[in-house]
Amino acid sequence: MENKNNFDYLLADLTKLNGVGKKTMEILKKKKINNIFDLLWRLPKSYTDRTLITNISDLLIGKVQTIRVVPVKYQFPRIRNLPNKVNCLDSTDKIDCIFFNSHEGYVRKILQLNKEVTINGKITSYKGRYQITNPTYVSDDRSLIETIENKYSLTGGITEKTYNKIINQILKNLPILNEWHDKEILKNFNNESWNDAIIKLHDPTNIENYKASFYKRLAYDEILATFLVNSEIRKKIKKIKKVSKKFTENAKNKITSKLNFNLTNDQKKSLDDINKDLNSKSKMFRLLQGDVGSGKTIVSLISALSVINSGFQVALMAPTEILARQHYTLAKKLFPKNVYIELLSSKSENIEKKKIVKGLEDNIIHMVFATHAIFQKKIIFANLGFIIIDEQHKFGVRQRKLLSDKGGDNCDVLLMSATPIPRTLTMAVYGDMDVSVIREKPSNRKEVKTYSKLESKMDDVIKFVRKEIKEGNQVFWVCPLIEESKKLDHVSSVNKYKFLSKLFPNNVALLHGRIENEEKEKILNKFLNKEYSILVSTTIIEVGIDFPNANVIIIENANKFGLSQLHQLRGRVGRGTKQASCILMFKSSLTVNAKKRINILKNSNDGFEISEEDMKLRGFGDLLGFKQSGVKNFKLADPIQNEDLFLMAEKQIKKIENQNINIDKYKTLLKLYDQADIINDIV
Ligand code: ADP
Ligand code: MG
Repeated sequence: MENKNNFDYLLADLTKLNGVGKKTMEILKKKKINNIFDLLWRLPKSYTDRTLITNISDLLIGKVQTIRVVPVKYQFPRIRNLPNKVNCLDSTDKIDCIFFNSHEGYVRKILQLNKEVTINGKITSYKGRYQITNPTYVSDDRSLIETIENKYSLTGGITEKTYNKIINQILKNLPILNEWHDKEILKNFNNESWNDAIIKLHDPTNIENYKASFYKRLAYDEILATFLVNSEIRKKIKKIKKVSKKFTENAKNKITSKLNFNLTNDQKKSLDDINKDLNSKSKMFRLLQGDVGSGKTIVSLISALSVINSGFQVALMAPTEILARQHYTLAKKLFPKNVYIELLSSKSENIEKKKIVKGLEDNIIHMVFATHAIFQKKIIFANLGFIIIDEQHKFGVRQRKLLSDKGGDNCDVLLMSATPIPRTLTMAVYGDMDVSVIREKPSNRKEVKTYSKLESKMDDVIKFVRKEIKEGNQVFWVCPLIEESKKLDHVSSVNKYKFLSKLFPNNVALLHGRIENEEKEKILNKFLNKEYSILVSTTIIEVGIDFPNANVIIIENANKFGLSQLHQLRGRVGRGTKQASCILMFKSSLTVNAKKRINILKNSNDGFEISEEDMKLRGFGDLLGFKQSGVKNFKLADPIQNEDLFLMAEKQIKKIENQNINIDKYKTLLKLYDQADIINDIV
């Protein structure tokens, strides 16, 4: 195939490859490998060296080795299930080739009597004789033997042999791409070209060579591609002109006068950032990032009231109905009486819904609290000026862009996320937005005390729970998370529920994945209203809901969770003024490494710090929310290991933005790595 200078080859369909038919293509597609480029990022895990040919007498049992032998006798048993056997020899000793599930004809064809042949496979020994079972490579031509074969960890239905053939074919046909990086940048990577780097990436002697120039170059490529896309979107949004919102400090004062606490400095600072954006003539597209319980809601409600005072409508979108309701109830308490707000829920009566739709259309309703339903076509705002989206760390770049478009030019957008992530990752994931961070916890907040307990100490835990309940506190009981099986999850939570119900009759509620949304909200509401003291749950307890009365959280099988996840769970308690506790339960004593992790959690209450440590230990893909999210995962780049590359890319982007540098030369990079035509597809 003639591919030089033709990068379309890389984006071509897999069936373009020799040896890839429909079946193989389907297998690869299941692994999210859709085109030739995708195949490049499955890296060899180890390799088999077939270069050395050994005498039979020198063979080592248990090792994969290559020998040249002469077949001398067939043994084809007429009994089913017995393997076919071929006796072979060289000048030094004898060996038997064993074939399971093979046709006689096949064996006769590849091992012809008295004809020297090269075979390869794992050597075993049976009754003092060497054996080799189903030899993988059989050839009578020594030169046809693969020298070194990479082992990739993907082959479900594809043999290593086939996979290696495919990869080698691609590496041979790699188009030569024009360099997109500046000379000065490339110097940092030993002037490694993309092609050379890719070839080195698949060179078995380079396995796990993360510090090498070729590896860093490729990691930098994808970081820069991500940042460029973000930057383009950002530029585009910044260009949107809107009517600036005019308001006084009135909203802030009205609300804060009703609070029995002062705003933290970070809350004030974030509010200033938001106000500036609202006042400005360009559209706001901002992320408010803050740990669980850092007080984002108040900040959003104050800005919402300001926008209402400036004559625009506001929409707040929450991931669940119960959360939308909670925000609505809080706003009812804090907003002046003449502000008309509504809660739009799927449970609302039709008449009620119609009234809300009309109210929004007629510009009577000032603010609506809702779930995703708010984006239905039939809902038309007369004058929407501000969308607030709570707990939406799961939106990817494209979805966010869509969202921003939906509100129209005059509509400012504020996203709130309680997933603290390291700065490098924020740059990559939210680089299209401005970011305000609330790092400071409200000063009245007591640290949640964190303990670890073995399951065998259940009696102590029950005693503790009994005491807490007596004092009027509520308890979350998070059941073992069994990844392998949702069914088992269910069983374990039901069992725990039964167990606890016996100890605390009529005082335990159960929430598991099989409960319908509506029922779930009912249960949560009852818990919120203190009808139960204990809530047993498998699913991660609804993110964002404020349960001021819940004081204890017990997390079983705690080693199944990442640190950030445990921190998020822990953040469900300790919202009130009493001392809160988090008990992490383990089936067996902790390994040294597990102890290290748990100690990080015990010693820190700072989500940013914890997520950084978590990422160091487990990789960023496991951070809460990111694994399942639409947020793209990097192929090679690691926000902790490659912090220098992230900073380098950030600098480069600033340079491009400040000097208005044309990004045409990065088009190939963008097309390959983002697989989007940036100009048409995103911006
Ligand atoms: P999150 O940032 O996780 O959304 P919330 O906005 O739900 O947090 O706030 C958690 C709790 O902290 C609420 O009960 C809220 O009233 C309270 N809170 C918010 N800001 C402060 C503050 N500055 N001082 C004390 N309590 C605060
Ligand atoms: Mg919140």
